[in-house]
Amino acid sequence: MSAIDTLPPLREVIATHGLSAKKSLGQNFLLDLNLTAKIARQAGDLAQADVLEIGPGPGGLTRGLLSEGARRVLAVEKDARCLPALAEIADAYPGRLEVINGDALDIDPLAHLTPPIRIVANLPYNVGTELLVRWLTPRDWPPVWDSLTLMFQREVAERITAAPGSKAYGRLAILAQWRSEARIVMSLPPGAFTPPPKVSSAVVHLTALPEPRYPADAKRLEQVVARAFNQRRKMLRAALKGLAPDLEDRLIASGIAPTDRAEQVTLEQFCALARNIAQP
Ligand code: SAM
Repeated sequence: MSAIDTLPPLREVIATHGLSAKKSLGQNFLLDLNLTAKIARQAGDLAQADVLEIGPGPGGLTRGLLSEGARRVLAVEKDARCLPALAEIADAYPGRLEVINGDALDIDPLAHLTPPIRIVANLPYNVGTELLVRWLTPRDWPPVWDSLTLMFQREVAERITAAPGSKAYGRLAILAQWRSEARIVMSLPPGAFTPPPKVSSAVVHLTALPEPRYPADAKRLEQVVARAFNQRRKMLRAALKGLAPDLEDRLIASGIAPTDRAEQVTLEQFCALARNIAQP
C-alpha cells in the first residue's frame, strides 16, 4: 500500500504523543491511512468543499480528507491530548486545517464554514446519533450541509437506512429518509479499529435533498412517528388512539389500514397522515 502523505505512521504518532485510547471518550482509532482515505472518498468531491470533521483523534481520517484534496477541514476534538498531533497535520497542509478543542455537542461550528459543506466523522456512537438527529432537524431546509458521511455501529446504520417491513425500520429511518438520501457505503469489522470495539461498524452517507420527499410539518410528522413506533407491536388504531378525532377515518384517508402496525407504514403514508391530522 502506498503512503498517502509524508507524515509519520499513526502508531508512531500515538506513541510519540502518548495517545492511549480512552474508553470514556469512545476512542477506537483507525490506523490504516489507505482505509481512512477510502472513507474520505465516500464523502464525494472534496476539492470544492469545506469539511467539518468531528472527533479527529490522532488524525487518521483528517489525513485521509486532506490527502483526498479537501479545500479546508475544520475539526472539533474534545480530547486536548490530540492537539499536538493535529498541529503537525496542520503544518503539513498549510492553511487547510483548523482545530477546535471542545465538545461537539456544545458548539456548532457550521457557521464558520463556507458552503458547500460536507460533514465527516468517526465518532462514539451515542454522540454520533445525537449529532445526526440535530443535523437532520435544522430550523430551515435545505440545511447548510450538502452531505454527511458518518461511521456508526452497524445496527444503527441499518436503522438509518431501513425500509418498511424490516425490524430496523423506525423513527431514525423516517427522520433520515424524509429529507435525505441515506445509504450504507462501507462495512468495517471490529479489527479495523484500535482497540477493536465489540461490534461491526458501517459508514452511512446521507445527501440532503433540496426539499422533503413528501410535504408534512416536521413537528407533526415527528409526533405521529414517535407515537406509532413507541408501541410498534400494536395496531395503529390503538397505538395512535387520542391523537386526533376520527382517527380511523384519517388513517384510511391516508392510505393506512387501522389494523396496520407502524413498521408496515411507508414514509409517504406517514407524511399523508401528518398532513391529515393537521386538518380540523
Ligand atoms: N477520527 C479518529 C479515527 O477515525 O481514528 C478518532 C475516532 S474515535 C472513534 C472518536 C473521537 O471522537 C475521539 O478522538 C474522541 O476523543 C472524540 N470525541 C468523543 N466525544 C466527542 C465530543 N463530544 N466532541 C468532540 N469529539 C469527541
